[in-house]
Amino acid sequence: MATFARVDLAFERGEGVWLVTKDGERYLDFTSGVAVNALGHAHPHLVAAVTEQAQKLWHVSNLYEVPEAERVAQRLCAASFADVVFFCNSGAEAVEGAIKTARKYQAVSEQPERYRIITFEGAFHGRTLATLAAGGQKKYLEGFGPVVEGFDQVPFADLTAVKKTIGAQTAAIMIEPLMGEGGVRSVEPSFLRALRELCDQNGLLLIFDEVQSGMGRTGELFAYQRIGVTPDIMALAKALGGGFPVGAVLATNEAAKGMTAGTHGSTFGGNPLAMSAANATLDIMLAPGFFDHVKKIGILFKQRLAEIKDRYPSLIAEVRGDGLLVGLRAIVPAGELVNAIRAEKMLTVAAGDNVVRLLPPLIISEQEMAEGVARLDRACARLSGSSKALSSAAPRRQEGAAG
Ligand SMILES: *Cc1c(COP(=O)(O)O)cnc(C)c1O
Repeated sequence: MATFARVDLAFERGEGVWLVTKDGERYLDFTSGVAVNALGHAHPHLVAAVTEQAQKLWHVSNLYEVPEAERVAQRLCAASFADVVFFCNSGAEAVEGAIKTARKYQAVSEQPERYRIITFEGAFHGRTLATLAAGGQKKYLEGFGPVVEGFDQVPFADLTAVKKTIGAQTAAIMIEPLMGEGGVRSVEPSFLRALRELCDQNGLLLIFDEVQSGMGRTGELFAYQRIGVTPDIMALAKALGGGFPVGAVLATNEAAKGMTAGTHGSTFGGNPLAMSAANATLDIMLAPGFFDHVKKIGILFKQRLAEIKDRYPSLIAEVRGDGLLVGLRAIVPAGELVNAIRAEKMLTVAAGDNVVRLLPPLIISEQEMAEGVARLDRACARLSGSSKALSSAAPRRQEGAAG
């Protein structure tokens, strides 16, 4: 189906931060398959782990024990607030699982009337019918029939609106601790702390959608750890398998108390092949010093981007984000900037709010980062030259292509 407006470009292989076409053209990858390839392309440890597993066993179903999945779950729990994990295959499925877990919690707490979930304008939670309803974006909901019931959208980071919206039917509040597709928008830690307090006072569960912000992107394994506010349920996917499709719902024992045998399921979820990719990803990320590198290079990157913004005030309005989940809010249409950067053989991706997202693999070296900044600089130089040459008309604004 023609659901994607694809760029006319195909890659044959990858090496670290580089993607290579059949003709041998090399592109610097600052998209990472949209925050997926956290360890770059063809990481030797991931290749070895998946190859070894592929020769032993791919899939057995959840009718049997899967030791590889138990190991991933134990490691995720040891590294987070969670006690239990449910594995699935994508971000949308993980968010669906989080929604179901929250509703079931209220149902088994003898409050079945509590099923509504408060979400935020501009959020992106996936493309299934319920996660679209949670995201609430009209352009994605249009033409797909009645919107799934049970989501109350409030303006972004508006605490008064959240308080007003909490009612006798509210089950949970769901938020991305750092909004990705919506334009790399941060929320104040104080806002997330206030949500935590509201949840505690009202018997609600706090759900963090860390599908994009999790797995090291912000310089900690999970963004909530950087902020210091702990959820009850968390959705993960994107980088969890280093490029292999894996999703996960993490929860405390209490929040997951309704998720007993038979209440939820997945045929593929947590199969040995996927879990070998997740375990290998965790081997690298949990090794000492990994996040020090991400933090250090993230700070360097933002400094260099601030310089670029100062050099091209007609192109870039703001540098946003945390760690290596960074955005440039553009003044020209974000898509034009993405195209100009791609002409310099560097890959980036637009987000909402006219933002160009920069998501390099977390293993990027300082030298590769400098190369990226140089290419970005050349793209901006070219674009500012040509936009001056074009006309003096006010720049058009256009929303980025999210999800
Ligand atoms: C990408 C994303 C999703 C959806 O993930 P899919 O794997 O595409 O289903 C959900 N939430 C957030 C925050 C995301 O960035």
